[in-house]
Amino acid sequence: MIAEVIVDIASGETDRIFDYLCDENTIVGSRVRAPFGGKTVPGFVMRIKETSDYPVEKLKKISPCPDELPALNAECLSLAEKLTKRYRVPKALVLRLFLPSEMRTGKVRELTRNYAELLVSAEDMQLGKTAKNQRGAVEYLGTHGKTECAYLNTLFPGSVNALEKKGYVRVFKEQVLRDPYKSVDGERVERTLTPDQEGAVNTIKQDGRTVQLIHGVTGSGKTEIYLTLIAECLQKGKSSIFLVPEISLTPQMLAQLRARFGKNAAILHSGLSAGERFDEWWRLRSGEAKIAIGARSAIFAPLENLGVIIIDEEHDSSYGSETAPRYNTFDVALLRAKKNGCKLVLGSATPSVETYRRAKLGEFSLIRLANRINRRPLPEIVIADMRREVRRGNNSAFSTALKEELSACLADGKQAILFLNRRGYSQTVICKECGYVAKCQSCDVSLTYHRDENCLKCHYCGTKYNMLSACPDCGGVKLSYAGTGTQRVVSDLQKLYPTARILRMDNDTTSGKEGHYKILKTFSERKADILVGTQMIAKGHDFPSVTLVGILDADMSLHFSDYRSGERTFQLLTQVAGRSGRAEEQGKVVLQTFDPENDVLGFAIQYDYEKFYENEISLRAATQFPPFSKIVRVLVSGEDDTKCIEALRNAYVGLEKVYTKNPEKFLFFNKMRAPIKRIQNKFRYQILMRLADTSILPEIYGICAEARTRDTLVSVEENPSNLS
Ligand code: ADP
Ligand code: ZN
Repeated sequence: MIAEVIVDIASGETDRIFDYLCDENTIVGSRVRAPFGGKTVPGFVMRIKETSDYPVEKLKKISPCPDELPALNAECLSLAEKLTKRYRVPKALVLRLFLPSEMRTGKVRELTRNYAELLVSAEDMQLGKTAKNQRGAVEYLGTHGKTECAYLNTLFPGSVNALEKKGYVRVFKEQVLRDPYKSVDGERVERTLTPDQEGAVNTIKQDGRTVQLIHGVTGSGKTEIYLTLIAECLQKGKSSIFLVPEISLTPQMLAQLRARFGKNAAILHSGLSAGERFDEWWRLRSGEAKIAIGARSAIFAPLENLGVIIIDEEHDSSYGSETAPRYNTFDVALLRAKKNGCKLVLGSATPSVETYRRAKLGEFSLIRLANRINRRPLPEIVIADMRREVRRGNNSAFSTALKEELSACLADGKQAILFLNRRGYSQTVICKECGYVAKCQSCDVSLTYHRDENCLKCHYCGTKYNMLSACPDCGGVKLSYAGTGTQRVVSDLQKLYPTARILRMDNDTTSGKEGHYKILKTFSERKADILVGTQMIAKGHDFPSVTLVGILDADMSLHFSDYRSGERTFQLLTQVAGRSGRAEEQGKVVLQTFDPENDVLGFAIQYDYEKFYENEISLRAATQFPPFSKIVRVLVSGEDDTKCIEALRNAYVGLEKVYTKNPEKFLFFNKMRAPIKRIQNKFRYQILMRLADTSILPEIYGICAEARTRDTLVSVEENPSNLS
């Protein structure tokens, strides 16, 4: 027999299928070890056939890996095939998405432990009077059944060995599953669905369309709808995939899932140890667990017979991959949903403009949940005009309104969350006196300050502008481009409120698998009064005692140089505000801004998604930005600058031909250095395009695949959420 094998080396030159000899037990989709270039490398069997075009005596033989089941099932193989074609990346790279990385390196094995159990009943044993430990162990085994040897030996030293020698107990190995969330506990809460929730569940089941969008305000009970759908699938023996932006940020969600589904749920995410991920993955593959929960990579979970796929917070930018292959989670999910004939449920309080448009046009079903559970009101948002604060001589990060509300909140024994957005690597220039923001003349996106060249740049067309010394509008010289960080906020806050217990949550404070969990747990147990953090505190948390949310700098993301900055800001503000007043008490939000008349802020304060959407979509239509066009970035990067430039030229020459042939399909076409010219010792160049017509996309992918070399990466990104 001949096996077609993909060897797991991700370089352009080996991206082929090789023929090997195999025995008849070899299964398609299984992992093998294949001799290759003098070494043995891992590989996958893609097909089995009778004959090869190569002379058989030249073929080498593969050896199987001792897996119980082939690692890749039929659906995963066909999905991998499609993605390889779509994104034009080496097959090995695509296959890697389907396996936990530790499986490929083969360093992690199943964890086994020794257990002891009784072979003979206690009455039939002959144990000497002095054999106290042995008798103790026998008694223990009599009441508890099989027990781990190590544990038994700590209770009764030396007992296991002695009893085994006498033939009274049997010692055997058994696999132990590493449980990543031993310390996550939660109580199972039984809830009756509200009529709104029930209506949503019924629509999802009955509507004929594959994609179901739930547009429900924060706190409208979307989670309960997801859990009901998953539970119904489980009852029918079907499996589910449940994607959340960042599982480690939402321990409450984990606890709920644990309490409700127990061992049926497997959690996949990057914070797990290698061993834990390996075990969780195999539990899914073997069918022992039927629910995969995780961030975007869990869309590749090795499940069969899917009953539902859920993408919570569908607008979240974490659903776009930033490493090759740069897949879009929604696209992969849709392929799987169609293949399995199941529904793809999207949920958000602030759907992405693109998704919402498709729902409004009738391509997706649109389910609205306009009210919070029990009709609790959404928190009131008050605006603090920071220009006025500056004029009054207040240069601190806190407005008078926020300080008053904070004092009241603390005096009341309630909790507060302060949010500071620090996205981006360099800040925008804002005039502190009139709120002026430096923008590109031809693109209407805000400019970004580049410290190294001391200039302002447009990330869309590459135009450079001189750094400002005074505001062109009002002549003011108080220009701000260095934001305050969370650390500074905490120390200032501590001076204002010496007795308040303050927690900080950002990338610096959340290392380790349970770093987030610990901070959130401390806060939810009310062992702290104020939580200060970056956007990671905006997502999904449900703290009943929080009655105040302060948004320290609402403008930061607004002027982020991206056509989506308005959308991002609206989403972020709505999400952060949604953390306040979730229980009985009415919540409040103080939003600090230098630009109080801004439309987007106005819509957010009114919680008026519909108006925001209408405004945004007409802007996008007028400027021909997505979804009315597609932004495509070709990123060339590598350690050798000369080779990068050569690859860039090759890609550019090819793309230019496409451009000259179809100028009407391009709204924009240019090559330039990437905004960040070097990351991790790799030089970066880019070709930016805005396409009016995406029919030429496959051609673009093809040209870039050709331009890729062993040392230089040439990747294609569609509507990238990060243009750095
Ligand atoms: P969302 O995901 O839409 O922001 P959640 O699912 O977090 O909202 O629900 C908000 C709150 O309402 C949670 O505290 C949840 O426990 C509660 N809740 C949800 N559904 C019900 C229900 N049917 N009955 C009672 N409480 C509910
Ligand atoms: Zn521009």
